[in-house]
Amino acid sequence: MESLEPLFPDASLTAEVGNSVAEVTDAVADMDGSYLSLSDADFRERIHRAYARMSACDLCPRQCGADRLAGKAGICGVGLKPRIFVWNLHHGEEPPVSGTRGSGTVFLSGCNLNCRYCQNYPLSQLNHGTELSIPSLAAALVELQRRGAHNINFVTPSHQVPQLLAATYAARQLGLHIPLVYNTSSFDEASTLVLLDGVVDIYLGDLRYTNDQVALRLSGVNDYVDHAKEALVEMHRQVGDIIVDEQGRYVPRGLIVRYLILPRHTNMARDVFDFVAHNLSPDTYVSIMTQYFPAYKALNPGLGIDRKINEAEFNRVMNAWSRSGLVHGWVQDMDEQGGA
Ligand code: SF4
Repeated sequence: MESLEPLFPDASLTAEVGNSVAEVTDAVADMDGSYLSLSDADFRERIHRAYARMSACDLCPRQCGADRLAGKAGICGVGLKPRIFVWNLHHGEEPPVSGTRGSGTVFLSGCNLNCRYCQNYPLSQLNHGTELSIPSLAAALVELQRRGAHNINFVTPSHQVPQLLAATYAARQLGLHIPLVYNTSSFDEASTLVLLDGVVDIYLGDLRYTNDQVALRLSGVNDYVDHAKEALVEMHRQVGDIIVDEQGRYVPRGLIVRYLILPRHTNMARDVFDFVAHNLSPDTYVSIMTQYFPAYKALNPGLGIDRKINEAEFNRVMNAWSRSGLVHGWVQDMDEQGGA
């Protein structure tokens, strides 16, 4: 994601701040992560509770019961140790995440969804990556901070929450202080997200579908919609909306909802935006993504997603957005290309 045009209704780069109007830039206020305020005892207790759930794993809605403490991998493909594909500075996320210096992005291996069109399928579905120790992952997080990252951005983290908590705790002891971003498909258990309350500052959560039959056909799960909605409500409860400070800088705390436009499936866009406006907040920042291209199993014409989106589909989604009452967000250029 490199090109993000603002979605303000008047297309002007301004935002109301208190009684004044500030010019909004891509700058992000430098703030410490909320996890700095957690006591050692509280942090350790959360790590303990998270790992305890891995003995018969119920961390995500799959509830597959794998004994990951014994090293067995669940449906997500990951066992006890953190498994990472790559970590680096990334400049193509939404402005409050990438800012001016980049986001410290950690691409995790494995996934609890099985999206036929996954644009990162080598790591998510084929499980490419390396097992790291907790100290090694902690050192990587600190190195990303040293390189100037605004934040640590865990991509596809739902199945590795215990490991990420443990690595963040260890990295905090090494001086990590920048905020955490939880960058998720939203196929999360709300009870797992509760463990991240006061740890994560920015949630970057998808709402991919509002129709479970489509979710089953394209992502291999039959209960995406309710779980994702419940997860997004919990994310919003924890961090609220993104806001802009008096200097026009994004404050790095809040929920951003992503919507990836899929070809021939734009009839869900209205329900996505209506849910966000009415069940989260009309001030939610929405990121509309046009980068879809057929990858992995999506070249199979039977799935109906074997091409990029067209202009008519893009316009349909933008019309749905403009009628939704939402006023904040970004949209990619039509010619975007995605992938890790
Ligand atoms: S996180 Fe992985 S092992 Fe745990 S329930 Fe989900 S798919 Fe199964």
